[in-house]
Amino acid sequence: MVESVFMAELSWPEWEARIKAGAVIFLPLGATEQHGPHLPLNVDVILPTAIAEAVARGLGGLVAPTLQYGYKSMPRSGGGQSFPGTASLDAATFSHTIRDVIRDMGMHGARRFVLINGHFENAWPSVEGLDLALRDLRAEGIRDVTAMRLEYWDFVKAGTLARIFPDGFPGTELEHASLVETSLMLRIRPDLVDLARIPQEGRASFPPYDIHPPPPGYLRESGVLADARGSSREIGEWLFNDHVEMITAAVRREFPGMRP
Ligand code: ZN
Ligand code: MN
Repeated sequence: MVESVFMAELSWPEWEARIKAGAVIFLPLGATEQHGPHLPLNVDVILPTAIAEAVARGLGGLVAPTLQYGYKSMPRSGGGQSFPGTASLDAATFSHTIRDVIRDMGMHGARRFVLINGHFENAWPSVEGLDLALRDLRAEGIRDVTAMRLEYWDFVKAGTLARIFPDGFPGTELEHASLVETSLMLRIRPDLVDLARIPQEGRASFPPYDIHPPPPGYLRESGVLADARGSSREIGEWLFNDHVEMITAAVRREFPGMRP
């Protein structure tokens, strides 16, 4: 019998047995998107997958294969689509991918899901995908599927943010490829971080509206929106521990009866 927290490493009878025993399915939602010159394209895949893995291990859950592509990168939150290497999905494609995999797992008996989003722009299209999946399942007479959907970065203690940003937290949107993501990568995959290539420029500023297509000079050339200087493994450790601890507590609250 294979013991793995990653569902795709199980055989189908093992998957079925784990689901029958009440295992929750964690589905990380990623993206393939530029993250500045110092980070790889798969930051938004690595981070939610690592968090889902830690939470699922603690709760006896299973991590479904991470969605490797996300909804389109936006100039004010991800740098935008013009960077080489960024490869995204149309919203309908992204939503329908979520719909299809949740529906299929639901048809096969899975009843509890946690969608852990790792890419800002995935938020609303993932709500749509989940809604469509539950609608499809209801049409099949399956009404007892429950899903949580969350952004991992919302699960952080005020005290941790105050320690990291003594002058005030600039907000999640501008954190793209900046202190938070760089520090988490130093905690989880330091081999993929090139500290020497962190841009030496401050926080970007945007007007409170978008322009399509982005005019010349609107985009940050480096692709980094805030400031990654000062990133450290220690900061990444604080954030990672908050995310895992607080998401675990939330899942326990919503899905009682999980192993202690
Ligand atoms: Zn990111
Ligand atoms: Mn992103």
